[in-house]
Amino acid sequence: MHPSFKIPFNHLDTHGKELDYIRQAIQLGHVSGDGTFTKRCSDILEKELGVRKALLTTSCTHALEMISILLNIGPGDEVIVPSFTFVSTVNAFVLRGAKPVFIDIREDTLNIDENHLKKLITKKTKAIIPVHYAGVACEMNVIMKVANEYGIPVIEDNAHGLFGKYDGKNLGTIGAMSTLSFHETKNFSCGEGGALLINDEKYVQRAEIIREKGTNRSKYFRGQVDKYSWVDIGSSYLISDILSAFMYGQLEERKKIQSNRKRIWNCYYENLYSWAEENKVRLPIVPELCDQAYHMFYMIMPSLEKRQELISFLKSKSILSVFHYVPLHLSDMGQKFGFEKGDLPNTEILSDRLLRLPFYTNLSENDQEAVVNAVREFKVDENQESVANVVNKELKIGKDNIF
Ligand SMILES: *Cc1c(COP(=O)(O)O)cnc(C)c1O
Repeated sequence: MHPSFKIPFNHLDTHGKELDYIRQAIQLGHVSGDGTFTKRCSDILEKELGVRKALLTTSCTHALEMISILLNIGPGDEVIVPSFTFVSTVNAFVLRGAKPVFIDIREDTLNIDENHLKKLITKKTKAIIPVHYAGVACEMNVIMKVANEYGIPVIEDNAHGLFGKYDGKNLGTIGAMSTLSFHETKNFSCGEGGALLINDEKYVQRAEIIREKGTNRSKYFRGQVDKYSWVDIGSSYLISDILSAFMYGQLEERKKIQSNRKRIWNCYYENLYSWAEENKVRLPIVPELCDQAYHMFYMIMPSLEKRQELISFLKSKSILSVFHYVPLHLSDMGQKFGFEKGDLPNTEILSDRLLRLPFYTNLSENDQEAVVNAVREFKVDENQESVANVVNKELKIGKDNIF
């Protein structure tokens, strides 16, 4: 990715026996779905996290599509989703006819603001889909309480948060189901891949069928039926065992990977703290109940202009920093659903100002020091307003519009 930068934004490395395992997978001869290594990965996820079932998939997008089928989403249904997320969180449900009901985010964690939930719930609401942004948990106690009150399933898009925790619970084990991504940019990766994690037993059997092209092939392989046939709708969501072999190599090294990422995150935080204070830049906030998954290091710059200036400044030093989600409610598709500028003030203000620094497991100490030094050279002028002031001011305008 972007080989022209001396310090890239992201870089996938091997951390253990990934390549040996790929060779083994090929020698074992079962390289399609649900071979030896796919099962080993599922075992780690099920045991380590304590989920009822972990099904590896071709991507997180596909795991979300499976959930959409499992929840019988159809035309006219509504799902409550952040606008500040990757397109798949929403598209998987829109694909089956749902209308996205976008919910604004909290200023501190950039996660969905649980205080807005009740007013967005209608008789048509079929799911609430929190995304644990940057691997820092949403306020799940409140979200689950509201969802249970209305009998609505909660689906955690946990693409960023594998091995993160909230109030002592593993992320991805709190809602009815959750998803993981093993895309190149995530903490654990095999290039492209993902998983569907199921906590509510009632979804397990049908999930296996949907993942196997709508057939009861999984039952057949367990000897529970003597032939397999077409029993439901479905598609091909199984990951090749070659990719699972790579994934298993990564998952085996989970302690090392996460402790490296923690060290890198803490190093950014400690070395940029006073620079951030002086320059009205906001560093990430991790609430007390959250053990974060160290997925990324972002900063909230005081304005869109300053964000763009810092990206260019770092680029001039051959360091790639990037912004993140362009709000979905302002995209062409979002506008087709009737959303417009001003609907989600926090999402709009924060997404304009967010910048992510290079962050990957093998980021060397020298390279990180170069990034830190470059950032500290950048100065924000004194009469620039801080983002906290902007958020409060524009939020007030937003609130006046609502009441
Ligand atoms: C990466 C990501 C996805 C999609 O993951 P794929 O495995 O690429 O399909 C979905 N949601 C979020 C929040 C993501 O960051």
